[in-house]
Amino acid sequence: MMRRRSLALVVAASASLMACGAATAPTTSGPSASSTTSAPGGTATGYRALQTLLEGASPLRRFSLGTDRLGVWICHVPVGVTDPIYNPVDLRLDLEVRKVAALLSEHVSAYFTTLTHGAYVPEFVPEGEVTIAANETNRTCVDRAAERSAGDIDGLVVIADAEHAEDQHGGWGRTGERCKAAAACPARVSGRAAYVGASDFHPDWGDVPAVDLLEHEIGHTLGFPHSGGGDGYTSAIDVMSNSAAPRNVDPNRRDGPGTIAVNRLAAGWLPLTSVTVADGAGTFPLVPSDATEGPRVLVLPIDDARFLTVEALANTGFDAHLPRSGIVVHEIDQSPTACRSGADTPCLNEYRSQLPISGTRPFTDLLGDGSTWSGRGWSITVSSSGNGSWTVSVNRSA
Ligand SMILES: [Zn+2]
Repeated sequence: MMRRRSLALVVAASASLMACGAATAPTTSGPSASSTTSAPGGTATGYRALQTLLEGASPLRRFSLGTDRLGVWICHVPVGVTDPIYNPVDLRLDLEVRKVAALLSEHVSAYFTTLTHGAYVPEFVPEGEVTIAANETNRTCVDRAAERSAGDIDGLVVIADAEHAEDQHGGWGRTGERCKAAAACPARVSGRAAYVGASDFHPDWGDVPAVDLLEHEIGHTLGFPHSGGGDGYTSAIDVMSNSAAPRNVDPNRRDGPGTIAVNRLAAGWLPLTSVTVADGAGTFPLVPSDATEGPRVLVLPIDDARFLTVEALANTGFDAHLPRSGIVVHEIDQSPTACRSGADTPCLNEYRSQLPISGTRPFTDLLGDGSTWSGRGWSITVSSSGNGSWTVSVNRSA
């Protein structure tokens, strides 16, 4: 009983220790919505805030496009460990690295391959096992694995054999240090890693472990920030927020939800030809942001650092837990105040803020036909929908 309760809570608190903490942005201290708007010119490449997004993510596309070789490690945590992240109960899972890597290859590779239509394919390579001492921490697990990781491994997936305590994060992910563009960038140099506790691999889950948290942490290794407000886990429409949201609707689900258009753009999973930048009033067609072709995201400029994304989500596939299909608006903020990065440094990748703003938590109240939402200097009306496509009319508002 206790164990099951612990499982649910630890999984629900799908937090990232390093990237997440730093990426939690203030939501009320950005520049005012009346900031000067540069002329976007109607093309995706001509709008500075979008250029900032794409240029910032450019060094990480070496990982987010093509095959990403992730070395899998088991970390043995001794009974009596002092790191407070671990549950004081002495349970240890008998995790075998080859079996774990095979499970991840089957389920997590399939998730990302489907999510990205084959643009990103993580490959899970069984590398080995490490052990920490009672006075060492979960970070030591990862550092020790990095030291021993092979030169052709792009990132690490480290799974502890001990559960985390109920009041602790379920795991964390980090992009690591940036490597020079032309240089090799193995995990043992960059430190790029995803780490989770043992709970998601508990036998109580059945044949398929709960892989949504690991999918979330891998998202952090690609430079994705959280997208919910508050603690970052309030949104049910993005794997980078409440990754367990699908399972709250269907207990048999093991994957996270899909991810939002801005992450797809940054990672190179959506081409610029799928983006429309509105420079004023207009009516625009949209198909779901996970489609393979067509107009998949509408960008509404706020200023040189901030913009709105308007996208359609269909309640199918990884988003089958949504009560209905519809339109959602996110505010993307890369201004220095979004992450307290300092005077002139934009907040890039895991440090940018991206908040769903057209609904209320958990943001599954997507805009339907005839709905209007206004904010950040824009008014957005869903003017028609049907056959998997939408038409939205936008206008500048006071
Ligand atoms: Zn996280």
